[in-house]
Amino acid sequence: LRRNPGEIEFHQAVREVLESIGPVLGKDPEYAEHKIIERICEPERQIIFRVPWEDDQGEVHINRGFRVEFNSALGPYKGGLRFHPSVYLGIVKFLGFEQIFKNGLTGLPIGGGKGGSDFDPKGRSDREIMRFCQSFMTELYRHLGEYTDVPAGDIGVGGREIGYLFGQYKRITNRYESGVITGKGLTYGGAQVRTEATGYGCAFFVEEMLKARGTSFDGRRVVVSGAGNVAIYCIEKVQQLGGTVVACSDSSGYVVDEKGIDLDLLKQIKGVERRRLSAYAERRGTDATFVAGRSVWEVPCEVAMPSATENEITGKDAEAMVRGGCMAVGEGANMPTTPEGIRVFQQAGVSFGPGKAANAGGVATSALEMQQNASRDRWTFEFSERKLQEIMKDIHRRCLQTADEYGMPGDYVAGANIDGFKRVADAMLAMGLI
Ligand code: NDP
Repeated sequence: LRRNPGEIEFHQAVREVLESIGPVLGKDPEYAEHKIIERICEPERQIIFRVPWEDDQGEVHINRGFRVEFNSALGPYKGGLRFHPSVYLGIVKFLGFEQIFKNGLTGLPIGGGKGGSDFDPKGRSDREIMRFCQSFMTELYRHLGEYTDVPAGDIGVGGREIGYLFGQYKRITNRYESGVITGKGLTYGGAQVRTEATGYGCAFFVEEMLKARGTSFDGRRVVVSGAGNVAIYCIEKVQQLGGTVVACSDSSGYVVDEKGIDLDLLKQIKGVERRRLSAYAERRGTDATFVAGRSVWEVPCEVAMPSATENEITGKDAEAMVRGGCMAVGEGANMPTTPEGIRVFQQAGVSFGPGKAANAGGVATSALEMQQNASRDRWTFEFSERKLQEIMKDIHRRCLQTADEYGMPGDYVAGANIDGFKRVADAMLAMGLI
């Protein structure tokens, strides 16, 4: 705490992992002897830089850019870039820390990192976004490389931004290094299913959790928060699996549509027109209601898939959700449930899939994109989706198996943290004091 003052989200993420891995440290004293915990909590490298850019009126703006290269024991640093006004070092470090264990859990050769900027893309023109991305990459490029550090998207960074970032990297370095960034467009080295992967993967993970309870998505009432990349493809896959998504949200409020969210309309409004969610209700007519400024978690559901941002489900929300019949929660976002919320769910016997496990499909598919780039190969959509589903099933199986092994049956949080930690810690031990 003294070493990282004010970084509250980072403290929260570290505390959650450390609370889970006590039994591992008890069983294997080597980790403590070699100070693995102290080492794993300290990023290998943190880069903070100035991002100057000019808006359409010629006014100059200065933002702050970040890249935290947290741990490369398993592979090159891998993790997204977030553009949102709330971004500061504490957020980037929490995301980077989570990413280490998530990436370990996938079983793929990727280390953990995260980055971003306090730039607010809302209301900015395409040209402004491009100029910002170019300026951001003009500093960041020197720290990246397919064997060093490979960013991707996150909040505020989608296909458009990845294109501008990759273009500037290519221009500055004079290298067509496809594997330096993931989430690329299909016309220039992107992989099938990467856009859909986090949302689809989360739905596959929850499907496994429901199977473990002897049930399925069929006919279930589902609420998904957010209306961005993760939320949209989560809704799409849940609908394909037979669930009815009755509500979703953005930072202005939420929309309830009892007949089920009209996905084409949602994609048009959020993805193409980049408008607020109220426009969905206006266009959908009497079937949908928009509720401004309130939390979507007041809408009762059987399955909850928070896919917007951190700490969106409080202890009070969780209590109301349990009373409303919620039986499973799969975190599409990173750390969307507060520690109190997690306690409420677990004590009530709700199957709780933490982000580290449930949303790992995005980064796993990024690793598949790197694999295709390295071999100059292109896989089909069907093949890639099958791979993603296998990975999510495997993560689910390992979470349960590890939780069982350490005497905490059904505890996905402990299973994910312990399995991810052991993979990274064992590699660190093998490499000596680095
Ligand atoms: P997007 O920017 O595409 O969408 C984010 C959505 O969440 C938007 O609807 C946004 O509303 C809403 N939102 C963001 N911040 C807030 C806030 N402070 N309060 C209320 N609503 C908010 O991001 P993604 O879908 O990519 O990311 C969503 C979550 O998933 C994040 O936690 C991210 O870290 C996590 N994640 C993403 C992965 C990916 O592959 N993209 C991989 C793994 C995890 P509005 O548009 O109004 O701001």
